[in-house]
Amino acid sequence: MTWSATVLTLYPEIFPGPLGQSLAGRALADGVWSLRAANIRDFATDKHRSVDDTPAGGGPGMVLRADVVAAAIDGVADGTPVLAMTPRGAPLTQARVRDLAKGPGVTLLCGRFEGFDERLFAARGIEEVSIGDYILSGGETAALVLLDACVRLLPGVMGAPLSGDDESFESGLLEHPHYTRPPVWEGLGIPEVLRSGDHAKIAAWRQAQSEADTRLRRPDLWERYSSARVLSPSGARRQKKEE
Ligand code: SAH
Repeated sequence: MTWSATVLTLYPEIFPGPLGQSLAGRALADGVWSLRAANIRDFATDKHRSVDDTPAGGGPGMVLRADVVAAAIDGVADGTPVLAMTPRGAPLTQARVRDLAKGPGVTLLCGRFEGFDERLFAARGIEEVSIGDYILSGGETAALVLLDACVRLLPGVMGAPLSGDDESFESGLLEHPHYTRPPVWEGLGIPEVLRSGDHAKIAAWRQAQSEADTRLRRPDLWERYSSARVLSPSGARRQKKEE
């Protein structure tokens, strides 16, 4: 079944953009997923086709109208969950991405200006999602991020089925570092164990690197990982995956 992505935006020509290239682009051409970018402005009803208005209570900028955006949502509704890209939303995680990739697809709302009229979210049961604690000029790049993260998990998109499994965050840890040829570059070598051919030793080294790097770089992730740990790192891994 085709995973269905619908994007509501004032700039539909932004799509598919980078998602037309490489693995996502090939999967789009092959019908693994579909993409419809609809212009919110097509659902405006007044003669100026206006989509925004001044903020109630005053202040700078413009606010996207609930009535126009709701008409757009109703107009494209296909049963997929509706998510609004907003900096006030729940931070996007790999776990949420995995859930969305397992579902029928998504409908994404891209804001501009000051964002959406708040009444929209409750009225249409919309989940708000943020891609991080910084402000973008519009939701389109955030939507591209969310779609990219989902599409690469769809069956058949990544070459090797296991290659998505090992990545940073999948286990609750950052991934170990990678190296390739040449074995010495600008005087810098490759950790000896990676050239040993001993797969058990390599796996243990990678796990230790993951843990050390996570502890150092992302104490927040390390805290969560180590508090979920039961008896052994592999036990913690299994427990995390079942969540
Ligand atoms: N006034 C808003 C920011 C609006 S930015 C505030 O301070 O919360 C304009 C649009 O860009 C938003 O409506 C949203 O769709 C998008 N956007 C900006 N930053 C984002 C982020 N971190 N995650 C997801 N969407 C974001």
